[in-house]
This record gives sequence, structure tokens and C-alpha cells, in this order.
Amino acid sequence: MIIALIAHDRKKDDIVQLGKEFQAFLQGCTLMATGTTGGRLQAEAGLNVERLLSGPLGGDLQIGARLAVGEVDAVVFLRDPMTPQPHEPDINALVRACDVHNVACATNVASARLLLKQLSLQA
Ligand code: PGA
Repeated sequence: MIIALIAHDRKKDDIVQLGKEFQAFLQGCTLMATGTTGGRLQAEAGLNVERLLSGPLGGDLQIGARLAVGEVDAVVFLRDPMTPQPHEPDINALVRACDVHNVACATNVASARLLLKQLSLQA
């Protein structure tokens, strides 16, 4: 199971919390994340994460490219709907890529919890 994790700045505490909550399951997965998100997951949730570029520098696009060739099974993408993002086109491209390739993409904590719970039951 290959899972990509991304959180905008105001959502980073939430993704760390999810990382801790699902640590046992996530430890058995291959994880990739945008730069800062990945750093926090490593440091605060003890997860082994491949860190890509930061989102505004192209990290979302890197994840989208990996996803397009079948290298991502699920995405947790905690977007901040209240703050304009300089890389909005990249964000939309990644969510679109999930839809194009029918990859599950949870964009808020409630749906992320459901997704990770279900995936952990299948593992
Ligand atoms: P970051 O990138 O994890 O490097 O902060 C995510 C984003 O803010 O788009």
C-alpha cells in the first residue's frame, strides 16, 4: 500500500495527529509526502516517509506524476479552504489526477479517518 500525505500549513497539526492515530497501520505502508508535511510526520509521528519537494515548489506535482503511473494507492490531502495558496493550479492538478485514475483522495480529517480506517481493515 503506497500512500501520499499532504497538509497545508494550518492543517499540519491535524495530519500529525492522524499519523499518530494510524501509526501502526502507516508503519506498514510505503509513505510519501510533500517536504514540510513529511518532516513533521517523521519527527512527530515517528513515520518513515519519503520527502518530496514542498507543495509550493512542485511537491503536489511530483505526487501527481507518481500517481499517474500507478505508484500511489491513496492520498490524504488536508487542504486549507480558508487560505489562498500560490500553487492552486498544482493542488487542482493533483485532485484531478486522483479523479482521472480513480485513486481515493481524502481532503479533510473526517474523510481521511474513514479512508485510513478502511485501508487498515483491508491490510
Ligand atoms: P509542505 O507542502 O508539506 O512542504 O508544506 C504542502 C503544501 O503546503 O502545499
